[in-house]
Amino acid sequence: MLAAHVLARHLERVTVVERDVLPDGPRHRKGSPQGRHVHVLWSSGARIVDTLLPGMIDQLLDAGARRIGFHQDLVTLTSHGWQHRFPPRQYALMCTRPFLDWKVRDRVLATGRIALRQRAEILDLVGDAKRVTGVRVRDMDTGARETLEADLVIDASGRGSRLRHWLSALEVPPLDEDIVDAGIAYATRVYQAPPGAAAGFPAVNVAADHRLREPGRFGVVYPQEDGTWMVTLSCTRGAGLPAHDDDFLPYARTLRHPLVADLIALAKPLTSVAVSRVGANRRLYPERLDIWPEGLLVLGDALAAFNPIYGHGMSSAARAAAALDTELQRSGTDGGATRRAQQAISATVDDPWIMAASKDVEYVNCRMSATDPRLTGGAVARQRFSDLISDRSIRSSAVCDVVTDVISLTAPQSELASNGFLSLMHKDRVLPELTEPPLTAEELALVKLTPRSTVSAGGS
Ligand SMILES: Cc1cc2nc3c(=O)[nH]c(=O)nc-3n(C[C@H](O)[C@H](O)[C@H](O)COP(=O)(O)OP(=O)(O)OC[C@H]3O[C@@H](n4cnc5c(N)ncnc54)[C@H](O)[C@@H]3O)c2cc1C
Repeated sequence: MLAAHVLARHLERVTVVERDVLPDGPRHRKGSPQGRHVHVLWSSGARIVDTLLPGMIDQLLDAGARRIGFHQDLVTLTSHGWQHRFPPRQYALMCTRPFLDWKVRDRVLATGRIALRQRAEILDLVGDAKRVTGVRVRDMDTGARETLEADLVIDASGRGSRLRHWLSALEVPPLDEDIVDAGIAYATRVYQAPPGAAAGFPAVNVAADHRLREPGRFGVVYPQEDGTWMVTLSCTRGAGLPAHDDDFLPYARTLRHPLVADLIALAKPLTSVAVSRVGANRRLYPERLDIWPEGLLVLGDALAAFNPIYGHGMSSAARAAAALDTELQRSGTDGGATRRAQQAISATVDDPWIMAASKDVEYVNCRMSATDPRLTGGAVARQRFSDLISDRSIRSSAVCDVVTDVISLTAPQSELASNGFLSLMHKDRVLPELTEPPLTAEELALVKLTPRSTVSAGGS
């Protein structure tokens, strides 16, 4: 939708071709199965959404989405221990994915400048290796096929994109593809939060420790726009997942800390468990090809999809839309413009890609087929440095600020190698390690829990 919105700013006619009927409300749909699981929009993505659709973030907040300041409004057990709740530097917007999509879609389509072809499936590209001139579309109700001609085709068809196949039919040389597959799976239930807790209790995140050489288990309790908690339990390959309602709470008890289990034990479940095998970190490299057809772009998950635990997919798609906007403004669509636009779009996925892929290769049972040299050479030294940063970041406010800028995709990952950051790592005051979740008495009272200082956090 953001890419379509950007196109409509620069081009005469824009058509979105979509297999589903897009619901007129915050409802689930087949083509977006991930919408049943937690989705956070990092502040970097939210700022882009707000630039493209002014006032959109306030509109979402007014309608109930929560703005979670990192790390003031989040209680998180990282691989290295409990994170101190430093004053917020960045934030994440928390609400259900169907709600976010619906609100954004409503704003984008309200301009009346985008035609929507629903229940229509793209079958393949039309054109040749030099230029794509349109798409072949099948009407899913009648089976009728037609060609839609276009000066520019954008593949935004998500993780299941058939772009490599479509390109080979046009005799474009094979696209390089990297895969880093930690076997991530998600299981989610929605709960009625205790009165006041959806608005007044922090978001909770209990992460695995990748250094333990065992499959990772994770759990989050995130407030949603309708006063509910969405609880997602996730794991890397080999850790199983609760497929039945009765197994959900016992599985939550196997996380590194019982906070998630304690919270859901008190809350009323509103849904059954929804389970998804998520798929790998996967990245295509169109920018490496000598020939790239004019009139074709790829972005979003179709270009690069990440382990969702890092919450980068939607912000990455927003960054691609922003890059597209800049390139269309600069060069339009003629004379090599799409190749330059694709290069700019591809550059935006590099940071989220390397953050997710380099972390996931550390999990046992991770499978990899990758050409990215950063994932093969010098991994041990890099991991040590990354562990050192994680250890400081949870206890040092200034280090945490820089790391949060990077993790939220606000600052480039290269910031972590800058002299300024290295000197912060040495100089900044380091607070004592926390041995229990940093919750206030008021927060504990909201959810009727008592301090559990006896429970070990399992940090380093
Ligand atoms: C479990 C899970 C949790 C996630 N959590 C987060 C999170 O917390 N934060 C975050 O930022 N990201 C998260 N993500 C990632 C996020 O969902 C994706 O990055 C994002 O949806 C990508 O958007 P997209 O538009 O590229 O693709 P999609 O949202 O997948 O949209 C693709 C669309 O194309 C349609 N389509 C596909 N093929 C065709 C075809 N041939 N013809 C016509 N239509 C077609 C589909 O119906 C769909 O509507 C998560 C992902 C998963 C799986």
